[in-house]
Amino acid sequence: MDRTESESPRNKCAACYRQFNRMEHLVEHMRTSYHSVHEPMCGVCGKRCRSFESLREHLIGPLPKVECAKIFSIRGCSLCLTILDSSYALRLHRGRCQLSRATPAGLISRMSSLGIQDDLRIDNNRTRGPQVVALACKMVGGGSDGSLDLCARVCLVDEDENIIFHSYVKPQIQITTYRYETTGIRPEYLRDAMPVKQVQRKILDFLCNGEPIWTIRSRRGRARILVGHGLDHDLDCLGMEYPPHLIRDTAKYPPLMKTSKLSNSLKYLTQAYLGYEIQTGIQDPYDDCVATMRLYMRMSSQAHPVEDYPLATDARNNFALSRQNELERMTPEGLLAISRSDYYCWCLDGVTEP
Ligand SMILES: [Zn+2]
Ligand SMILES: [Zn+2]
Ligand SMILES: [Zn+2]
Ligand SMILES: [Zn+2]
Repeated sequence: MDRTESESPRNKCAACYRQFNRMEHLVEHMRTSYHSVHEPMCGVCGKRCRSFESLREHLIGPLPKVECAKIFSIRGCSLCLTILDSSYALRLHRGRCQLSRATPAGLISRMSSLGIQDDLRIDNNRTRGPQVVALACKMVGGGSDGSLDLCARVCLVDEDENIIFHSYVKPQIQITTYRYETTGIRPEYLRDAMPVKQVQRKILDFLCNGEPIWTIRSRRGRARILVGHGLDHDLDCLGMEYPPHLIRDTAKYPPLMKTSKLSNSLKYLTQAYLGYEIQTGIQDPYDDCVATMRLYMRMSSQAHPVEDYPLATDARNNFALSRQNELERMTPEGLLAISRSDYYCWCLDGVTEP
């Protein structure tokens, strides 16, 4: 390969704009990058990023792209990272984008925090009702050092942030610490609370929505989509399993993860993407439910182009189907056009399946 060719912009990735000395290196990069229309994109230069965190770095810093940062500072929203048409449009947008802590309607929160309102709505609408629900738990400690997490409070909300279920839970194991400063839970609250087995059954019944759990294969059935943050842990503490394809976990969703591929805390995500604080002082699982539901709503309402098939077909993306020399003759845009995502983008929940 001669020098002129190695320096030509032909070898520049059409998604992340990385430059490669040789076309074969770009092809190799495309095989393993899983670039797609679902990746967060800079509204100024069109660069695609693996996560909103890396887009944030690109627009705000440290070390932002200067031209993009300049425009972003005038008409970019620091929460959703969208670039608006004008600073006036930005102000209007911020009014909708910036959220504040939700308070559940009326008396419900007070009553449910006393454990009274435990199945107000859960047995209604067995076949209809919300299709997406958020779940969160608060844990107390068990075991000799109190480090074993035991679910002592659980909440479920629907898409409109209404409480479906909110209850104290009586663990099966002896509680050694109530973690009062964060849970606000006292022994008397749990004395007559619903046993964890019963809670588990109620929640599972509600989620499955009349569909036997072993038959749940697609999301076209009646079973509901479950939203949460670190759901493995919550489900574990409830002694529950739920089909992975119906789980939307804000701790594990690549666009919401750190550039290091570790999870962000829900507290951080709520502050950074929704603009308000949670988990200060005594924590109510309702706040966590609402925050994860809002994050889910933001993510699933993104307008991404609709493709014939949205996911990569194998571990080497779709590029395994073509010969290396064919790929090396393609343009960077052509390579991007056949590249697909390696994660399920939540925008696809909004797309009606044929
Ligand atoms: Zn790239
Ligand atoms: Zn998408
Ligand atoms: Zn940019
Ligand atoms: Zn915004």
